Amino acid sequence: MIVVMKSGATEEEIKQVIAQLKGLGFGTHVSQGVERTLIGAIGDKSVLEPGFIESLPGVMEVMPIRKPYKLVGRELHTSDTLVKIKDGITIGKDAGFLAMAGPCSVETEEQIFACAQVVAECGGKVLRGGAFKPRTSPYSFQGLGEAGLKMMRQAADAHGLAVVTEVMEIRQIDVIHPYTDIFQIGARNTQNFNLLREVGRASKAVLLKRGIAGTMEELLMSAEYLLSEGNSQVILCERGIRTFETMTRNTYDISAIPVLKKQTHLPIVGDPSHGIGKSEFVPDLALATVAAGAHGMILEIHPNPAKALSDGPQSLDFSQFRALMHKIQRVSQLMQQFKTQAALA
Ligand code: PEP
Ligand code: MN
Repeated sequence: MIVVMKSGATEEEIKQVIAQLKGLGFGTHVSQGVERTLIGAIGDKSVLEPGFIESLPGVMEVMPIRKPYKLVGRELHTSDTLVKIKDGITIGKDAGFLAMAGPCSVETEEQIFACAQVVAECGGKVLRGGAFKPRTSPYSFQGLGEAGLKMMRQAADAHGLAVVTEVMEIRQIDVIHPYTDIFQIGARNTQNFNLLREVGRASKAVLLKRGIAGTMEELLMSAEYLLSEGNSQVILCERGIRTFETMTRNTYDISAIPVLKKQTHLPIVGDPSHGIGKSEFVPDLALATVAAGAHGMILEIHPNPAKALSDGPQSLDFSQFRALMHKIQRVSQLMQQFKTQAALA
């Protein structure tokens, strides 16, 4: 439920309401609006005497939270969340468009340093790269593990970039923690609820991908696991879903961007590389992602896609990436202009 405080409610009254709710076993989340304070209370409502909370000093009314994604939804948390990735690198709210790019897998020092250089040169802020890879075949390249993480951290630091890398299981959290700024939870693990809970306690930003056959609501509920453990630094990622279509690797669901934005205060990014799976179509989808209102994007690039150890067919080479980043900047400037004009109108 949401406890709506009166606009003149004092600090003391707010504290008292929180103390009462906690005493009754509720988890509380305070949301400071421009007009008034909202206190989200999550717990067993049957312990409440009817009218008890309403009778406390400073309380205006008590409302139910209708959506099942109580912390992720906009009922309690009305303004957009700004996720802090690392000093000076943020996403969401009114931070500009954020580009993340890098290889599917970290392969060699030379490869990851070359990627970091081109990402920074083109205005990207986050270097992606997998060191623990979820592969369909156990015989495919599984990633370099900690050695790959070290290389990626060094490459990112050399160019002032943040790092995003995938965590596949709970045991990897401590190994990855010192090297990354964002834990990526991949499409195959979106509903690994034990992993979500543990990553929710790891006090780092999280990039949560939509499940391979996951609905938007399931994605929001997975994010709810992270927030319920106290981590609100969560970025949602549309990466395409499995449909009956066979001409593309996945069906990139562009509609998820505006629809999720309406449902949640968390930032949304698109991953057109996995979304379509073919590099020749990635630029068109990338521009559509910006135009659909995403807060950012994650792209796969490789110095030589034909030789990539994973996801080569969907990786852009550096000249394709440079050309695309130029266009992304132009479309995102245009989107910014539209926003400013709408705000002035
Ligand atoms: C990846 O980012 O390389 C990856 C494996 O992504 P997804 O979980 O979306 O398939
Ligand atoms: Mn990949």
